[in-house]
Amino acid sequence: MYARVIVDVAAGQINKPFDYAIPDELSHLIRPGMRVIVPFGPRKIQGFVWKVAESTDVPNVKPIADVLDPHPVLTSELLELGEWLAKETVCFLITAFQSMIPAAIRAKSKKILQLNSENDQLPPVLQVLFQGKHKVEWDKVPKEKGTLSLVKQALEKNIMEVVYEVKDKTRKKTIPAVKLSREVRDQSLLDVLDSRAKKQYAVLDYMRNHSDGKSVPIQRVMEDLAVTRQVIRTLIQKNLLIEEELESYRDPYENREFHTFPRPALTEGQTNVLEPIVQSLEKKEHVPFLLRGVTGSGKTEIYLRAIERVIKTGKEAIVLVPEISLTPQMVERFKGRFGSKVAVLHSALSSGEKYDEWRKIHRKEVQVAVGARSAVFAPFENLGLLIIDEEHEGSYKQEDHPRYHARQVALWRGKYHGCPVIMGSATPSLESYARAKRGVYRLLELPERVNNTALPPVHITDMRTELKKGNRSVFSEILLEKLKDRLQKNEQSVLFLNRRGYSTFIMCRDCGYTAECPHCEITLTYHHNDRKIKCHYCGYEEILPSLCPECHSDQIRFFGTGTQKVEQELTKLLPEARVIRMDVDTTSRKGSHEKLLTSFGRGEADILLGTQMIAKGLDFPKITLAGILAADTMLHLPDFRASERTFQLLTQVSGRAGRDKLAGEVVIQTYTPDHYSIQYAKHHDYEAFMLEEMGQRKQGGYPPYYYLALVTIAHEDVVQVMKTAEKIASYLKNSLSPETKVLGPTVSPIARIKDRYRYQCMIKYRNEPNLTDILNQIAARYQKEMAADKFFISIDMNPQMFM
Ligand code: ADP
Ligand code: ZN
Ligand code: ZN
Repeated sequence: MYARVIVDVAAGQINKPFDYAIPDELSHLIRPGMRVIVPFGPRKIQGFVWKVAESTDVPNVKPIADVLDPHPVLTSELLELGEWLAKETVCFLITAFQSMIPAAIRAKSKKILQLNSENDQLPPVLQVLFQGKHKVEWDKVPKEKGTLSLVKQALEKNIMEVVYEVKDKTRKKTIPAVKLSREVRDQSLLDVLDSRAKKQYAVLDYMRNHSDGKSVPIQRVMEDLAVTRQVIRTLIQKNLLIEEELESYRDPYENREFHTFPRPALTEGQTNVLEPIVQSLEKKEHVPFLLRGVTGSGKTEIYLRAIERVIKTGKEAIVLVPEISLTPQMVERFKGRFGSKVAVLHSALSSGEKYDEWRKIHRKEVQVAVGARSAVFAPFENLGLLIIDEEHEGSYKQEDHPRYHARQVALWRGKYHGCPVIMGSATPSLESYARAKRGVYRLLELPERVNNTALPPVHITDMRTELKKGNRSVFSEILLEKLKDRLQKNEQSVLFLNRRGYSTFIMCRDCGYTAECPHCEITLTYHHNDRKIKCHYCGYEEILPSLCPECHSDQIRFFGTGTQKVEQELTKLLPEARVIRMDVDTTSRKGSHEKLLTSFGRGEADILLGTQMIAKGLDFPKITLAGILAADTMLHLPDFRASERTFQLLTQVSGRAGRDKLAGEVVIQTYTPDHYSIQYAKHHDYEAFMLEEMGQRKQGGYPPYYYLALVTIAHEDVVQVMKTAEKIASYLKNSLSPETKVLGPTVSPIARIKDRYRYQCMIKYRNEPNLTDILNQIAARYQKEMAADKFFISIDMNPQMFM
C-alpha cells in the first residue's frame, strides 16, 4: 500500500502529493487525514496523508517513517474542503490543511547534531559542546567560523551526523489520580483493611461509591474527604489504590458558574423567523438564511432555539462570532443554555487550551462549537447547522494565507452536510443583502427590538461648529452635558473612539517632520506604555526622540486622539466620573478584557471608553448613553467599503444604549454631518442606506456588481517589481475576457513594507470561470523566486483590505 502525502516544506513548496510506501506494521493504521513523518531529501518532515492507494508510478518509493496521530486530524470532508480552498484562494494545499488544525499540533522539525562515536574523537571545542550528551540542537551551536568549520570536518569524517527530529508540540496535560485496585473491587473492605484505619477506610469507601471503577483526581479525593496526601500514598503503597495520570483538559471556563438563563417565550416575530429554519432542519435542506434583525431584536435567542433542535436530533452546530464580540457575556449565553455540550475557541486562549477545546470536538464530546473565524473548521462530522453572527464583520476574512472568508467556508460545509446556514446581522454586508434580494439567500427579518423598546434617538453634533465656538476639546457641549446628566442619575455611558486612521503619531511642530519606518512607507505609531514609536507592519521600534532628528527642535510631540488622551481629558472635565478604558493596551493581558467588562457590568464604573472592541455584543441594562467621538475617522480611508463600515459601526455602537427598560440616547460627533452614512445611521434606516450605497457601487464598478481580485507584487528592487507587475498585468489582460477590467499596475497604498517595494493590479470581473486557474498558474510560475524569499506575490480573492 502507498500513501499520497502532502508534505510540509516551506522552500520549494510544491502543490502536489508525494508517494510513500506504507510499511507493513503501519498498514492497518494509516488513513487519509493523519499526520505522518516522512523522509524528504536529507530531512524528516511532517505531512498529511491525502489518499491511500494500491499502486504508485514512482520508482524506489521511500517508506513512511512514523505516524503522528492515532486518528485522522482531518476528516474526509475537511480534506475535500482543503482542496477546494487551496484552489479558490490560490494557496498551497499544505497551507489550507494546516489552517484547519490547532496551532499546537502543527509540529516543527528540529535540526540536531548527533554523535556517532565517542566524545574523545572530537576536537576539544566540540567535546565541550557535547559534554555528557550525544545530541546537540543546531541552535545551541555557536555560529562562529572556527566552530562551524570543526563541525563540518566532523561531519565529513562521519564522527557525527545531522538528523532532523520532528517535535510534536502537543502536550496533553495530566493530573495525578488514583483508582481502586482489582483486589479491593472484588472484596469487602474489611478483608483488605483494618477497620481502625478510619481515614484509609473512608477513602476506599468513597472510591467504591463514587468512582465507578474509574480513576479520580487525588486532589478531589483529598478535598472531598479532608484527608492528607499521606493517607492516599499509604493506600498506594499497600497496593489498594493504583496511581494513574489522568488526562485533563485545560478548561478556561473551569470553576465558573454559568447561570442557566430562563428560556423566554418567543415573541411573534421570533416565532415567524424560527419556523422556516426549523423546516429546513427537518427536511435536511441546505438553505442559506440571511437574518437581519435590529440590535436587541433577539437574534441570539433564535440561534439558541435552532441549536436546541439540532442537538435533539443528535447533530452538531457551529456558531461563529467575531473575535472582539466573543465576550464573556456571549459565551455565557451559550454555556448557560447548553453547558458542557459547548466548546469555545478564541484567540485569548493559550494554544494548549485551544487544543483541548478542539479535542473535545474531535472526540465528539461536545455538540456545539462557539468560536471566532477558524472555528468554521471544527472537525464535526454530523453538522446540522452553521451560524455566522455579525456576518458583515471584516474579521471573518483571514488576511493571511489561506485568504478565506468564513462565510464562504460555512456555506460550503452547509452544502456538504445538507443543512441550513444562518447569517445574522443588524447591518448585513452589501454583498449578502444583495444576494438575499436576488433570492440566493433567504431573507428573514426582525425589524423590532424585543419588548418593542424603541431604537434610541440619535443626536448629531457638528464638530466644526464647536471649533468655531472655541471648543477645542474632544467633547462637544451636548455630549458633555449628557455625560453629566448620566452621572447624576447613576446611569452608565459608553464612549467609542475609532482607532483606525486615528492612531497616534509624532510630529515636529517646527519643521513638520514625522517619524516613518525605515523599512516600510508608513508612519510609526506612538506607544505610551514604553515610550517607543513602532511600526505596525514590520515590528520596527525606536525610543521616542526628545529632539527632532531633522531640525533639532525640542517641539516634537505626539498627535492624534488616542484613548489615553481622551481618558486624560475626561478625568479633567469630569473628575468625579469613574472611567474604564478598553483598548489594546489595557486588554493585552489574558483575562483582562473579561475583568474590565465584568467590573463595568457590576456598576463599578460610570463610563466605558474604548475602541472597536466595545462596539459589539455588550448587553448592559444601565447603559443609556452611547457617544461616538469621531464618526468620520473611517469615512475617508482609501477603501470603497468606507461608507458601509461607517454606517455599520455607528449602528452597532448606537445599539448599545437603552437595551432594557431605561430609554437610551446616542450622540454622534462628526465633521461631515451631511454624509449619507451618518444621516441614515441617525434615522436607523438600513434600507435607505443600502439603496444609496448600491448606486455608488454600481457607478464605481465595485461589489456586489463586480467581483474583485487583488494581485500584489513585492520585491526589494523597484525596477524588478515594476517590470514583473507589467508582465503579470498584460498576461491577465490577454487571458481574461474583454468585459473584465484589469487595473494597474499601480503603486500599492503602502508603497513599501519590510524593504520591499509594492505594486498591485486590481481585477474587476463579473463572470470569469477560469480566473482561479489563471491566478494559480501565475502563483506557480513565480514559486521558485517566492520560495527563495526574493519575490513576493500575493493574490487576494474578494479582498477586504486594500493596503
Ligand atoms: P440581538 O442578538 O438581536 O442583539 P439579543 O438576542 O441579544 O438580541 O436579545 C436582546 C435581549 O433580549 C437579550 O437580553 C435577550 O436575553 C432578550 N430576549 C431575547 N428574546 C427574548 C424574548 N423572546 N423574550 C424576552 N427577552 C428576550
Ligand atoms: Zn523638526
Ligand atoms: Zn516597518
